[in-house]
Amino acid sequence: MLSNETYSLDLPFGCGPWPCLNKNNICPFSSEFVIKHCNRAYKQIISASFSCPHCGFTYIKRYYPKDIENKSRYFIADHGELWREKVNGLLRENKSILFISKFVGSDMETINKFRDNINYQDEKGLAGRPGHALNDLKKELVDLLQSQLKGKNRKQIKIFFGFSKYDKLMKHERVWMEEMLPPRKINLIKKINYKEHDEETYPLIEQVAKQIYLENPPVRITKTMILKRVSSFELARLNGRNKHKFVRINQTLEVYSEKIDDFLIRIFPIVINRFEQSEKYKTLNWGLIIHKLHSGYKGASPKTKEWVIGKIEEYNSCTKRM
Ligand SMILES: [Zn+2]
Repeated sequence: MLSNETYSLDLPFGCGPWPCLNKNNICPFSSEFVIKHCNRAYKQIISASFSCPHCGFTYIKRYYPKDIENKSRYFIADHGELWREKVNGLLRENKSILFISKFVGSDMETINKFRDNINYQDEKGLAGRPGHALNDLKKELVDLLQSQLKGKNRKQIKIFFGFSKYDKLMKHERVWMEEMLPPRKINLIKKINYKEHDEETYPLIEQVAKQIYLENPPVRITKTMILKRVSSFELARLNGRNKHKFVRINQTLEVYSEKIDDFLIRIFPIVINRFEQSEKYKTLNWGLIIHKLHSGYKGASPKTKEWVIGKIEEYNSCTKRM
């Protein structure tokens, strides 16, 4: 090049803003240019990650100065919290995986994985059973609390109203129930009724566990994590010598404590992010993941390893010129 020649390089991806690529029905700013910052990674191939400030949807694009075709390709690094809330809500409404997949614009496997993590079997069974609608039950209870059950304690209310109806409301409308019912009698001398406590508390544990899954923490979701969130008393109780007496609580904790493979799949976006953020690592592969990015993947089952390798291919295929 001659010294009197000049040239300029495009800033990869330009100066922004960039669009949120979350599909319709989820982000109110879908397709709008709301992303003002991106993280560019200068590796063998320049890439950048874009995260929507409204819904958390995060995608990664590769920089090809002259390749128009690849410009539209992207890799989904994280679906974001709005997506998780939406899918969670639709699963609760008992919508089919196919319906949800179309509604939120994600493939069915992704929805299935998400559902398996949060485990909706319980709600599903209940929705299929005939019974009182929650709103009717609530209305019935409110009427009774203002008439025959005025001034009665919780035990009397439960007996009069009916155990199954009471438990159902406790399970699905815990917060509402705590507001409606008279305060729990606190009697430190009285010994705890294990069975009663077990029945009353496990729905709360379930609710808390689901909330934690929605928050999507970067660490594995354990029994201790769930119990700590419920209360320090609960944690102490479930570690005490009578812990085996809380059968339903233990079952619930068992269902919601995260299996290693579920955890590794859930946090894969974090691994991608670590790779993207690092200047040193140039190529994403299995060896790099287990040795440098997240040693937890050494414990992956063959099936999960296969899933991860598929994801790596998907990620790397964005970089290939077609
Ligand atoms: Zn968005």
